[in-house]
Amino acid sequence: MKSILLIVSGGIAAYKSLELVRLARKQGIEVTAVLTEAGAQFVTPLSLQALTENQVYTNLFSLTDEHAMGHIALSRAADLVVAAPASADFLAKMATGQANDLATTLLLATNKPILVAPAMNVKMWQHPATIANIATLRARGVTLIGPEDGEMACHDYGPGRMSEPATILAAILASLHQGPLRGHHAIVTSGPTFEPIDPVRYIANRSSGKQGHAIAAALVAAGARVTLVSGPVALPDPAGCDVIHVETASQMLAAVEAALPADIAICVAAVADWRPESVPTGKIKKSPGQTAPTLSLAENPDILATLAAPGPSRPRLVIGFAAETDDLLAHATQKRLRKGCDWLLANHVGIGSNVLGADRNQVHLITSESTESWPPMAKTEVAAKLATLIAGYFS
Ligand code: C5P
Repeated sequence: MKSILLIVSGGIAAYKSLELVRLARKQGIEVTAVLTEAGAQFVTPLSLQALTENQVYTNLFSLTDEHAMGHIALSRAADLVVAAPASADFLAKMATGQANDLATTLLLATNKPILVAPAMNVKMWQHPATIANIATLRARGVTLIGPEDGEMACHDYGPGRMSEPATILAAILASLHQGPLRGHHAIVTSGPTFEPIDPVRYIANRSSGKQGHAIAAALVAAGARVTLVSGPVALPDPAGCDVIHVETASQMLAAVEAALPADIAICVAAVADWRPESVPTGKIKKSPGQTAPTLSLAENPDILATLAAPGPSRPRLVIGFAAETDDLLAHATQKRLRKGCDWLLANHVGIGSNVLGADRNQVHLITSESTESWPPMAKTEVAAKLATLIAGYFS
């Protein structure tokens, strides 16, 4: 299990650290919290202890804390040290190498990577003293997350807000992953596309994005840098991915091409094959006695076939999906050759198959050498198994 040492310094954003702990724990990350004296003005040791399910350390000179774990050992026990929020005062102490409380002492003694999520008033963030401190910390290899632009608790507006817990978590995941796909870039498409008929209507399909999003998350967990190009879905962005939201097939292709180069491309999205040929600027009106309008369709670009076409920007491993209602394996085998992809995962989406929108899937992996049928399993398990195979391919 990966672990982090979370330092909570003094700032109103400290309340967000509690949510960060909750999200990190959900990802299976063990959290040990250190609360500075100023931090304890905003959150209590008890809340941190309840959420981390670990002892909370507050005092450099506490005999009980030191007995539980010496401060040098504490600084090195976790895989990563995260300071969130990191106040202007705290960053100044870090930059000047002070060690006058437990948190700053741990930061001097640690041999682990350090992430900081600054949080302060916009004027404090833009002060030359803070700018110099940040430059010093960056030069020392400290990774910064944020701060973001926005309205402050004091009603000023500008950069200084601490990044949201999900953003900090993504940075934590990215830096913890020592996985086998570290150093590899993967592009994943997911979800349906919406093809406009007019400004209010569109053609879509029943894809939920669950399989594509699960694959993106599994690749992040395997250490890859992941660009997820997602059609409209009702799912949260998976942590640790660079997510690009699109609506149409043409936008999806443009986003995919902009994300190249990549080592791996996995086209999971159920891209609409056709789009209405022309889209009026106004809503198509219904009037009494009028015959129903007919839709004239134009073919959409094929993203998988485009990515799989030979050329200098072709990812080394291109994987497609095939959703078929009948003759699954025969159609899917032909589809792999037609699209030019290396692997193809085929699944049955006929009536009663209960795959689209569901949490489980049954897939068959077709490569140039073999066809392998996997037993029914959760989409997250399909994703994990696929990520393991991809890691094997690149090892
Ligand atoms: O729709 P079709 O059966 O051709 O989809 C098979 C594969 O092709 C899927 O991996 C899908 O993501 C991809 N595809 C695509 N662009 C399209 C159509 C399908 O990338 N326009």
